[in-house]
Amino acid sequence: MSRSAGIVGAGQAGIVLAAELLRAGFRVTLYTDRSPEDYLADRGRPTACLFGEQVVRERELGLNFWDDTAPSIERIHLDLCAPDRLVLFSVAAPMRLPALAVDQRLKFAHGLRELATRGASTRVDAISVEKLDTLAAEHDVTVVTAGHRSFGPTLFERDPKRSLHARPRRNLFMVNIRDYDLAAGAHHEHLKFSFIPGVAEIFWVPFLDKDAGVCRSVLVEAVPGGAADRFTDVGSAEEGVDVLRGLARDLLPWETEFLAPAAPTSPVTWLSGAITPTVRKPVARLPSGRGVLGLGDAVVLNDPLAGQGANNATRMARFFAERLAARGDRPFDADWLRGQFDEFWAYGRFVNDFSNALLEPLAGFQQDLMIAASRHPEIGSAIFDGFGDPAGLFPWFVEPAAARAFLRRHRVSRADVLRYKIGVAGKIVGHQLSKRLKAPG
Ligand SMILES: Cc1cc2nc3c(=O)[nH]c(=O)nc-3n(C[C@H](O)[C@H](O)[C@H](O)COP(=O)(O)OP(=O)(O)OC[C@H]3O[C@@H](n4cnc5c(N)ncnc54)[C@H](O)[C@@H]3O)c2cc1C
Repeated sequence: MSRSAGIVGAGQAGIVLAAELLRAGFRVTLYTDRSPEDYLADRGRPTACLFGEQVVRERELGLNFWDDTAPSIERIHLDLCAPDRLVLFSVAAPMRLPALAVDQRLKFAHGLRELATRGASTRVDAISVEKLDTLAAEHDVTVVTAGHRSFGPTLFERDPKRSLHARPRRNLFMVNIRDYDLAAGAHHEHLKFSFIPGVAEIFWVPFLDKDAGVCRSVLVEAVPGGAADRFTDVGSAEEGVDVLRGLARDLLPWETEFLAPAAPTSPVTWLSGAITPTVRKPVARLPSGRGVLGLGDAVVLNDPLAGQGANNATRMARFFAERLAARGDRPFDADWLRGQFDEFWAYGRFVNDFSNALLEPLAGFQQDLMIAASRHPEIGSAIFDGFGDPAGLFPWFVEPAAARAFLRRHRVSRADVLRYKIGVAGKIVGHQLSKRLKAPG
């Protein structure tokens, strides 16, 4: 008799885990608080761009229903800006594998329907802790993939050793837009990042929206209290786009024409809020004493600055499906599950270290890497491939000596870096002079 898995939550982790376990011969029951129709009628969900091997894995699992309609993202264009309306330099480079950003309402609705055709049992039910205990008794293994909100902070205990933050580091605003002027905006055919250190990181993501089709999903990661932190009182998508236009006028004036005709894709495709990055203990003990495993945001929650949540949910689902399948007839007891999570963490910590590194100001050696990347696209590609596989950034993205060795391997000397920096300094001086000349009097 095949083993049975109960999966609570049909989001990124739940859908992928169910597809993996069905393939491995498990009997799978998916408990979801939303039916496919509910998902399709729901408000907008996060951008959730998948990178690298995660896109490949969804394809291998036959969950790639949008290959012909979603824009294939092959390059990233990053502008590193000064707060006084200047692009200091840009890094533009291809990624090894294309990224893909598809509306999660489509993904989860289609995923649920598809898994039912493959033999998964799907139950529409908002699972409580009490019900979870019943499920844990019914299944050989029960996995909670219900995101970070549903069971609150109590079910999975915070892991203080793996959690660095006690409060959010950014205030977030996301809106999906259409009708922008692609001809007027530079580099918006690619995934575009506008970083203003100390102020905000803004992501312009080619995106497939459930209603509008190909559009841009714009995510603003504002440093609290800074010049871009102006979305907390936004009450509608329209208002949010207006505030975004104001932000562009003040900080990124070269984006104003692109945004001038833009409108939200619908009244519900926007989000605002803030996330406290938190790692939780992976196994929760229920009132009966039974244990359940958590995956995805339920146990590893990062700020979306590095775009890792959905990617990591996919990696975790794959990793655990392989381990559960290899377990044979032996029990999925709490100690064994914890041990598997520790093994996952040998990789997973890179995801968190990368996400946490981006929340901090760039160190001098990281500035050197970025400035070198602006002149050497292969360095840009190595950095951008980190979104698909953060482990590939270590140690050279976080350790000064490793960064210097990395640059040497790419034939970039200290003198080269100095020359590039002098070029940027000249740009700043030119900008200041032209501002003075333009100033009245
Ligand atoms: C603004 C923003 C932008 C983002 N951009 C990116 C990005 O570009 N790339 C990236 O990788 N990540 C991104 N993320 C993060 C990403 O969206 C999440 O990390 C990812 O969706 C987590 O997957 P999950 O399966 O853990 O949870 P979810 O995808 O949230 O799925 C959980 C599901 O469980 C269901 N559920 C909840 N409670 C219950 C219950 N009690 N019973 C049954 N079902 C329940 C819910 O309906 C939900 O659909 C972004 C996040 C935000 C906020």
